[in-house]
Amino acid sequence: MNTDNLVERLKLLGWSYTADQLDGLLEDSSKNNVSYSEFLYTLLSNEIEYKEQLELEKRIKKARLPYVKTIHDFDFPFQPSLDPKRVNEVLTGRYIHNGENIILLGPPGVGKTHLAISMALEALTQGHTALFITANDFISECRKAHKEGLIQRIIKRYCRPDLLIMDEIGYFAFDEVSAHTLFQIISKRYEQGAMILTSNKSYVEWGKIFGDDVLATAMLDRIVHHSTTFNIKGGSYR
Ligand code: ADP
Ligand code: MG
Repeated sequence: MNTDNLVERLKLLGWSYTADQLDGLLEDSSKNNVSYSEFLYTLLSNEIEYKEQLELEKRIKKARLPYVKTIHDFDFPFQPSLDPKRVNEVLTGRYIHNGENIILLGPPGVGKTHLAISMALEALTQGHTALFITANDFISECRKAHKEGLIQRIIKRYCRPDLLIMDEIGYFAFDEVSAHTLFQIISKRYEQGAMILTSNKSYVEWGKIFGDDVLATAMLDRIVHHSTTFNIKGGSYR
């Protein structure tokens, strides 16, 4: 039978993967005496899997991760201050459902960004949306948006994803506008949207980062209330 008609109809449904694979699947099925139900099951499963993969790739792109590294690339024996059991608990993604935060603290090179990316990838694979930004890029975005009167748009953008990752808090000081904008985002996300934050500075130094002890304390209060902190020690992996 000529399959042109079938391919045309599959394309009308938007089943382009099945349309491309149909001839091979039909041939295999008749060769191996596959039942109708089995054939249909394989066809549907392949199309679903293909669509899910496309959705995942879209979510990964929108998350703006600086690079892709997974937890399998992480050398735990090199980092004995990090309990793999606690990291695995994070990878289950329970904190996302509960709107909790993960805070990764430690000096440069100990794997904070790598871990944050691995955790984000796991969340994306589980079907969540995520957005990654460095504190410095956030400050720049706020400055630009403030000039254009678009701070509300920034707040919306960073409240929307299921998981917000802010990397490298502490390398640069926040100005007043970016500190207040971040405070509003943190307040709106409180108990609603999970965050992963990384910093080279301990909590006591956060007042200096945000140029305001009262604001920093209020921020930390909300961040830490439902959170898991990893204090990573040791030398740089670099
Ligand atoms: P930080 O963000 O804490 O400054 P990074 O996550 O950028 O550190 O780590 C620096 C580099 O070393 C990255 O390329 C990262 O993948 C790698 N790295 C750090 N710790 C480990 C580790 N324990 N196992 C494997 N790679 C690591
Ligand atoms: Mg880093």
